Amino acid sequence: MTDRIYNFSAGPATLPLPVLQQAQRDLLALPGVGASILEISHRSKTFAGILDSAKKGLTELLSIPENYRILFLQGGARLQFSMVPMNLLTANTPSADYILTGSWGNSALKEAAKAGPVRVAWDGKADRYDRLPASNQLELSSDAAYVHITSNETIEGVQFREEPETGQVPLVCDASSDFLHRPLELTRYGLLYACAQKNAGPAGLTLVIIREDLLARSPADLPGYLNYQIHADNDSLWNTPAVFGIYIFDLVVRWLQQEIGGLDKMYARNVDKARMLYQVIDSSNGFYRGHARAEDRSVMNVTFRLPDQEREKAFLAAAEHNGLSSLKGHRSVGGIRASIYNAMPVEGVSSLRDFMQDFASRHAS
Ligand SMILES: *Cc1c(COP(=O)(O)O)cnc(C)c1O
Repeated sequence: MTDRIYNFSAGPATLPLPVLQQAQRDLLALPGVGASILEISHRSKTFAGILDSAKKGLTELLSIPENYRILFLQGGARLQFSMVPMNLLTANTPSADYILTGSWGNSALKEAAKAGPVRVAWDGKADRYDRLPASNQLELSSDAAYVHITSNETIEGVQFREEPETGQVPLVCDASSDFLHRPLELTRYGLLYACAQKNAGPAGLTLVIIREDLLARSPADLPGYLNYQIHADNDSLWNTPAVFGIYIFDLVVRWLQQEIGGLDKMYARNVDKARMLYQVIDSSNGFYRGHARAEDRSVMNVTFRLPDQEREKAFLAAAEHNGLSSLKGHRSVGGIRASIYNAMPVEGVSSLRDFMQDFASRHAS
């Protein structure tokens, strides 16, 4: 294991080492099965057990109430940008409200606009998406089909700490880059979706948690794969699901339960990790400048700049040389982005902190 780097990639991202080790042990033959997870039927008893375990594990971890359904889908978060309005923004509802706190929210809006009427309830563009709205700044319509938020904007590094109040209107959340990073009050949500490859597993799996009553909105004439009701009726086995992704997701959930000790503990650890990096930024006399305002910054994606691009380049090269990998910011924001999801160990973050302090002391002025 000596050749594993600390991988700060925004996604696909680092996975817990014990999960990878377990998958490696079982790759040729699952215990008692004699074949690999990559080779068995999605209708087999073995896979039924894995799917059931993943569902039960997630239900326990998030305390998912009985009137919610878990769907294991494909197509990434981007397919949800379309499926959400296709299923929920129906003839009986006038429009959907979008709160834009960064790049992904804008992408979600763009796709939704192809499916039906949409409204922007708040847009942080004027401040280059460095903050979240105050609750009195939201222009929500009381008869909207739903309100859409992006709980953590992966590119800009701003994150909701609390859900906005939406009254009777269902809250829909793209939680792709902070899913399972803290406990949630799920009753605040109508629908929550997340691609797996940031914080929950490999690319190819997308999770949807939907309040049961909303399934009734799915129009019967939607193509089958795009219809939530069909996936729910068939227990995510309408078509062949992302078998390997679900297997890894199940291992990640077990890791969170058994080795981390649940989401409260995971959140405490995530807050500690983020604090380590923000402390360096805040005490660097302006050498490092965080993109997001302090009160809204993300505990998952830490985004910051150096005084000039020369030093940013030097920073990235020296970091890579020290086994601190994939720290380059998204091209639209530039600078540096350290993605410190659940699976990034504390040691990885403290190595980065030490590196940042050392780099600043040698390159300031
Ligand atoms: C990565 C990401 C997406 C896109 O996910 P895909 O699986 O590539 O479609 C959408 N929203 C957020 C918040 C993300 O971080």
